[in-house]
Amino acid sequence: MTIYQNLIAGEWTGADAVENINPSDTKEVVGLYASGSAADTRNAIAAAKAAFPAWSRSGIWERHVILKKAGDEIMARKDELGALLAREEGKTLPEAIGETIRASQIFEFFAGEALRLAGEVVPSVRPNIGVEITREPLGVIGIITPWNFPIAIPAWKIAPALCYGNTIVFKPAELVPGCSWAIVDILNRAGLPKGVLNLVMGKGSIVGQTMLDSPDLAGITFTGSVGTGKRVAVSSIEHNRKIQLEMGGKNPMVVLDDADLSVAVEAAANSAFFSTGQRCTASSRLIVTEGIHDRFVAAMTEKLKTLNVDHALKTGTHIGPVVDERQLKTDTDYIEIGKKEGAKLAFGGELISRDTPGFYLQPTLFTEATNQMRISREEIFGPVASVIRVKDYDEALAVANDTPFGLSSGIATTSLKHATHFKRNAEAGMVMVNLPTAGVDFHVPFGGRKGSSYGSREQGKYAAEFFTTVKTAYTLA
Ligand code: ADP
Repeated sequence: MTIYQNLIAGEWTGADAVENINPSDTKEVVGLYASGSAADTRNAIAAAKAAFPAWSRSGIWERHVILKKAGDEIMARKDELGALLAREEGKTLPEAIGETIRASQIFEFFAGEALRLAGEVVPSVRPNIGVEITREPLGVIGIITPWNFPIAIPAWKIAPALCYGNTIVFKPAELVPGCSWAIVDILNRAGLPKGVLNLVMGKGSIVGQTMLDSPDLAGITFTGSVGTGKRVAVSSIEHNRKIQLEMGGKNPMVVLDDADLSVAVEAAANSAFFSTGQRCTASSRLIVTEGIHDRFVAAMTEKLKTLNVDHALKTGTHIGPVVDERQLKTDTDYIEIGKKEGAKLAFGGELISRDTPGFYLQPTLFTEATNQMRISREEIFGPVASVIRVKDYDEALAVANDTPFGLSSGIATTSLKHATHFKRNAEAGMVMVNLPTAGVDFHVPFGGRKGSSYGSREQGKYAAEFFTTVKTAYTLA
C-alpha cells in the first residue's frame, strides 16, 4: 500500500506509517498515513519559519489565486472527498459531502478576503501627524485539529492563516489523516511556495507536544478536548504565544410549552444525534417545560425509532458509527453512569451489530435527568442526550446557563418575547431559535464562552483578529 507522507519544506517524506481504519467496517484500511517524529516536527517548524518572510509579503492576488484554486478543486471532488471523509470518520455520506462543500466554500470566502485586506487611516489628536492602522501576518501558526470535522476544521484554520500571510505547521488528528492529506496536496499543487504549509501527521504526544514546546510558533489554533486545550494554553504563556482554543460543549436545547412540537423534535433529534452526536455544538441537554414534556418525550421516542444506525456509506443511514473503540467505551460508560445516577433510559443504550463490524450504538435518550448529574455536566461526545424537566421559562434559562461550557444554546418556542429574551441572556457564543444547536454558516463568527473557547472567534472576517497582529504607525506630515 502507498504511504501518504508528510509534507515538510515542500517535500513529501516519512516511512513510518499507521493504518487509517474505517469505523463502519473495521476490516477496511482506508490508507497508510505517515506518523511523524519530533525531528520531523522541528524540521517543519524551521521550514515554516524560513518561508515566512517571503510569504508574509506575497501579493494578495497570488494568495487569492491559490485559495480559489483549492476551493474549486475541493468542490469538483466533493463526492470522492466526501466518501473518504465518511470512510475515515464515520459520518453519513450526505453529511460528509456537505462538510466537503463547506470546506470548499471556506476557501472561496478567504480567497475573496485576500483581495479585501485593508487598514485605516485616521487623524492624530496632535496637529500635522497622520496615523495608519494596519494588520500584519502573525508569523508561523501551529494548527492542531480534532477528528470530528476532518475537512471543515482544517479548512477554517488553514484558509485564513494563508489569506493573512502566515506560514503553517499543521497537525491533524491521528484518526482522520486522509482529508487533511488531501487538502494539503491540493494546496501544494495549487502553487504554494515550499515551506508555507507543512503537514506533520502523527501522535499528539509527539508531534503536538513538539509544537507546544517550540518557541518559534507565533500562534496556535487548536480544536479538541479541554485537557489538551489547557496544555496548549499553559505552554503558550511560556512562549508568549497567541492562542485560539475551541474545546468542549454541553449545549442546552430548551423546549417551551408554546413550541411547535414537530419543529422542536426535528431540532432536538438533529442536535443530539446527527453526526453521531460527535459535534462540539451537539445538544445533550434537552430542557423541557412541564406542559409539553410528556408529548415531547413521546414524539422524540417515535422519531428515534425511525433513525437507522448503519454503515456511513449506505443509502438510508441516518446515524453512522461512533468514531473508534475508545469513544465507544466513553459513550457506554456514560450510559451506565446515567442509569446509576437515577436517570430513566427512555430509548436506546445498546450496541448493535450490522453487516460489517463497526462501532454501532443506538441513539440513547434519558429522561428524568437533573442538571446536577454527571451526564448533564460532562461532555460525552456521543449519541447520548438527556431530558431535564423544568417548571417554566425562567427555570429553563437558569438550567441552560448552569454549565461550565458556553458554545451553543438553542430554544424552541413560538413566543417572540421568550426568543428575544433567550437570545439576549443565553450564556453562549451562538444562539439558535427553532433550529438545531449545531449547523452554522461559514462566513460568520464561530466560537463560545466560559469553558468552551478561549481567544478570538474563528471564521468569517472575525478570523483576522487571531491571524494578524495590529500595527499603528504615526507620520509627521
Ligand atoms: P480527543 O480526545 O477528542 O481526541 P484531543 O484534545 O486529545 O481530543 O485531540 C485534539 C488534537 O490534539 C489531536 O490532533 C491530538 O493529536 C492533539 N493532541 C493530543 N495531545 C496533545 C499534546 N500533548 N500536545 C499537542 N497536541 C495534542
